[in-house]
Amino acid sequence: MLDVLPQMPEDSILGLSSACRSDPSPNKIDLTVGIYMNEEGVCPVFDAVRLAQQSLVAEETTKAYMAPAGDAAFNQGLQRLVLGSGSAALADARVSSIQTPGGCGALRIGAEIINAAAPGARVWVSDPTWPVHIPLLGSVGLRFETYRYYEPVSHGVNFDGMVEDLGRAGRGDVVLLHGCCHNPCGADLTLEQWSVIADMAERQGFMPFVDIAYQGLGDGLEQDVAGLRLLVERLPEVIIAASCSKNMGLYRERTGAALFVSSSAENARALLSQAQVAARRIYSMPPAHGALLAGRVLADAELKTNWEDELQAMCWRINGLRTSLVSKLEQNTDRDFGFIEREKGMFSFLGLTRAEAIALREKHSIYMLESSRINVAGVNGANIDYLAEAVGAVLR
Ligand code: PMP
Repeated sequence: MLDVLPQMPEDSILGLSSACRSDPSPNKIDLTVGIYMNEEGVCPVFDAVRLAQQSLVAEETTKAYMAPAGDAAFNQGLQRLVLGSGSAALADARVSSIQTPGGCGALRIGAEIINAAAPGARVWVSDPTWPVHIPLLGSVGLRFETYRYYEPVSHGVNFDGMVEDLGRAGRGDVVLLHGCCHNPCGADLTLEQWSVIADMAERQGFMPFVDIAYQGLGDGLEQDVAGLRLLVERLPEVIIAASCSKNMGLYRERTGAALFVSSSAENARALLSQAQVAARRIYSMPPAHGALLAGRVLADAELKTNWEDELQAMCWRINGLRTSLVSKLEQNTDRDFGFIEREKGMFSFLGLTRAEAIALREKHSIYMLESSRINVAGVNGANIDYLAEAVGAVLR
């Protein structure tokens, strides 16, 4: 019976990355997949994570199942990290969370909860959004509407278009927002703009669903969640999908959480029970290792400071690369690339045509998405000149 199933095409991003791996050119550059890479082109293990792992391995006494909600220290640490230890919602016990397999698992559990409350609800997604949002949320049965977001000419947010489109979102609708470091465009909302969205949600009754996969990689751990916290302060209900993949380098350990901010402690508990039932239907219990490491890092003052310092250094490095890219690209072209410096996080659309992105790959072994989205962290001191010269060559 299974032979009716045809071969599926390879994932477009992972396919480009594997094409880069088999490219024999010594100059090749992989700017495709969204993982942080250091100056040596390596995706490193955080020092604090390594230390937590050493103590975990020494002390671990069991591999019995995790509790369905996951590790308590992890859940508590992540709630504080995302919402702030002074959060009124936390003080009122109006928040519950479930540890999930990565941010993807959190998005999926969030979608399950939304669909349980309002089957087939409309989710408003930004144009563009991370392409995986659609299958992750859509496979649950949610439907989509798009709101204008990125404006390719200005390389910024088309906030008037966003407000106009979200003007049609009402009670029972969900608006999916990127908490910071928008993937794929890097253009984020200002705090004033977050406040306008909060006003609209209050007035129109839609619920925000915030995907925060890059906390700490835009401006800093606190700054990157300022908009999200503003929503949580002002609105009765917000769902948050958090990930430790990037900001703790735990990608393969599948470490994340879905947070439910609700109007009462009773409802927050009910949502957690619903999330546990949803998880049971899909994968039962979350994986242990990454959350036990993250829980230790967040609970231990010394490890936490060590982690924060390393993360801050990564953030500064990305922002430094953005500044260097602007000047190198402008030395090699007659275009204004200043927008790269105004964006946040790991991604940027260079503003090249599809043909130019393909020419970079075929003639210069520089791999980026055909939309010209690059992972800024794939740039380093050894490849930046080659990259800027190649962009200059294809634009000439
Ligand atoms: N949301 C966005 C916008 C992302 O870019 C990613 C990772 N690429 C995720 C969520 C989920 O990450 P993970 O499941 O690896 O934690």
